[in-house]
Amino acid sequence: MKIYNTLTRKKEEFIPIEEGKVRMYVCGPTVYNYIHIGNARPVIFFDTVRRYFEYKGYEVNYVSNYTDIDDKIINKANEEGVSAKEISERYIKEYQKDLKSLNVKPATHHPRATEEIDGMIEMISDLIEKGFAYEKNGTVYFKTRKFDEYGKLSKKNLDDLEAGARIAVDEEKEDSMDFVLWKPKKEGEPAWDSPWGEGRPGWHIECSVMSTTYLGEEIDIHGGGEDLIFPHHENEIAQTEACTGKTMARYWMHNGFLNIDNKKMSKSEGNFFTVREIGEQYPLSVLRFFMLSAHYRSPINFSKDLVEASMHGLERIQNAVFNLEYALDNAVDESLKDREEEVIEKIEALNRKFEEAMDDDFNTADAISVIFEIVKITNSEITAESSKELIRKALDKILLLSDVLGIEAKKEEELLDEDIEKKIQERQEARKNRDFAKADAIRDELLEKGIILEDTREGVRWKRK
Ligand code: AMP
Ligand code: ZN
Repeated sequence: MKIYNTLTRKKEEFIPIEEGKVRMYVCGPTVYNYIHIGNARPVIFFDTVRRYFEYKGYEVNYVSNYTDIDDKIINKANEEGVSAKEISERYIKEYQKDLKSLNVKPATHHPRATEEIDGMIEMISDLIEKGFAYEKNGTVYFKTRKFDEYGKLSKKNLDDLEAGARIAVDEEKEDSMDFVLWKPKKEGEPAWDSPWGEGRPGWHIECSVMSTTYLGEEIDIHGGGEDLIFPHHENEIAQTEACTGKTMARYWMHNGFLNIDNKKMSKSEGNFFTVREIGEQYPLSVLRFFMLSAHYRSPINFSKDLVEASMHGLERIQNAVFNLEYALDNAVDESLKDREEEVIEKIEALNRKFEEAMDDDFNTADAISVIFEIVKITNSEITAESSKELIRKALDKILLLSDVLGIEAKKEEELLDEDIEKKIQERQEARKNRDFAKADAIRDELLEKGIILEDTREGVRWKRK
């Protein structure tokens, strides 16, 4: 199995640290808002990496953090006049709903930065002791030039960086390339006690600590979007390796951007759609299918036409599954007949082709094409006369390979109008009893099935997406 390693800029054979096991860490969201579909790209892709390893028989320890303390969270909390914790907890819940609708499995661990402060203080203290960090007026800085290999991931050179850097009059730092590990408390901000006074951690130290705490000093894979290569991942490597003297991660994987009009989708540019917004227009299984229809390292341009094409592609698979289920229910003969063995062989050959695609740096685009080839064979070779055994094998194969990609090959059953009315009634009851958690849960359940509720003065109205 080959993985493109950003560290070496080459595809390399995957050799796990521990046989049969994969330890992987993927940088998670800063929880201050709904995620946009650009943020969904690494979420979907790395979940697919995890699923493929599991399909190959590996036990995967998958860690993805929540950055639940950050300027953006604090600003939002101040805007709303609530605590930072209230904001982060709210958007962690919303993020988890998005994960579910994108068919992303929960990570083995989802640590929160604010619950790992002790570990961060410990690592920072260790770095100071080893001479890689120093404190000035309550701020702790990492001594970047002391770490000889700085720049090995992003292929940047400190002297070039320094020459290109804006000259900030920052008299505190010993060197303009030094970065913050701990910052002192500002008025009105959440803070924790530390040997350097009250304050909070810098962003990069979080991931170094959560990765080593949950996965160990050396891990197999560290991932995220390519904008994290520098400075975030470069700084993570410097902190962790200066501390442990070991290689932090063997393979560094980075997804390309999701663009819109060939420009990176981002909150700051304002050119984004949230996962929720897209979920109101299409089933989110379509968004997942769309993301995986390009190789993860290529940029992917978001457009309505491409999403519609993905929707039709997904429907082709779902129709094949629907037809195979119908055929299975109605088939007469149990065991394989003449020449059916050949069809099975063709399908098995395609299964191997699927694996070859995925073994080649997770080529999900080719893997999807292979599923289409299987669909084509089943459409042409399976008839009302086929045996149950052949039909079952073809059906199971499509379901299995779709599941490796997290693609929902079974069409969701449509709710009947009367079922919807019943659910709405239940929700009204719950609201009357002030059981808002239950009322919200019913609303979300309906939304997941494509039913949108609108509370109007005349009562509840509903529509299908
Ligand atoms: P952020 O909240 O900006 O730290 O982003 C969370 C994750 O989403 C990181 O792994 C980013 O690299 C990734 N990301 C952000 N924007 C995009 C985009 N337009 N396309 C692909 N990945 C993105
Ligand atoms: Zn990180």
